[in-house]
Amino acid sequence: MKTTELFGKKTVFSLEIFPPRETMGENVIYETLDALHDVKADFISVTYGKNSGTDGCRTVKIASDIKHRYGVESIAHIPCIGATKEKMIRILDALKENEIDNILALRGDMPEGEAQQGDFLHADELISFIRSRYDFNILAACYPEGHPENPSYDNDIEHLKRKVDCGANHLITQLFLDNTHFYRFMYKAGRRGINVPVEAGIMPVTNKRQIERMVKMCGVELPGKFIKILDKYGDNERALKDAGIAYAVDQITDLMANDVDGIHLYTMNDPYVAHKIYEAVCNLI
Ligand code: FAD
Repeated sequence: MKTTELFGKKTVFSLEIFPPRETMGENVIYETLDALHDVKADFISVTYGKNSGTDGCRTVKIASDIKHRYGVESIAHIPCIGATKEKMIRILDALKENEIDNILALRGDMPEGEAQQGDFLHADELISFIRSRYDFNILAACYPEGHPENPSYDNDIEHLKRKVDCGANHLITQLFLDNTHFYRFMYKAGRRGINVPVEAGIMPVTNKRQIERMVKMCGVELPGKFIKILDKYGDNERALKDAGIAYAVDQITDLMANDVDGIHLYTMNDPYVAHKIYEAVCNLI
């Protein structure tokens, strides 16, 4: 099923997981998925990164198992940076063979210090490439605080419009910790004629090192309210977990009250956190 069919009836609630390190064994991801079963997710997306295997085979397999073994719709993330068209065709053919309907088409992060190689410079080129050859439903990433490489917010919105015009028809945001960024983004995107459903990406912050890395990598603003939580509970793992869950629930409640299209929860492969959040908001969905 194409994810676009889910919108308009209720608030979409989705999860994101990542392929664990291969040294952790094949079963780890299935233990995570078993534990996530009670969270009634509309779909689960699987990231693509250093643990995705050759031609993304582990991402493809996990996305396929989510759909066929667990009966939940899935999305495969596919970054294109450094890839040739031939490699992309191998990955896309594998997804098609596994009856995956949805792809989150991404550029991926630029490898530091390396010159760009491969056939794709930006996500819009991958989206056009997929659209011209396949019938996948295509999603794209968006950035409520702007993409960190682009100094112009409005220009970043222009590039997003291009991704939508090339064929992306469902967007998922980067994490943000202050909902006002999301509302400003929705206003600007709407004014630019971007009218596809947008899911708000929510990351429950339960670990101080993790958020420090994210802030550096994604340029996400830490609101004063959040800094106070980090200052007080940053060195107390259990307290920070509770505070991070409460903070995410508060963000989601506000987004739902403001008619968000969907919530995409970055689970960090932690079913306990996903459960706690789902329990707290499931009656709002
Ligand atoms: P693009 O849309 O190509 O944008 C990148 C930059 O280039 C922006 O600054 C934009 O303004 C600019 N730009 C865009 N188009 C053009 C153009 N035509 N000409 C000039 N400039 C342009 N990464 C992974 O490696 N694996 C994952 O699984 C993954 N999942 C993600 C899931 C979500 C929901 C999000 C938000 C991000 C994810 N990422 C993932 C990270 C993503 O790859 C990075 O944020 C990357 O830096 C940008 O990817 P993009 O697809 O948004 O790129």
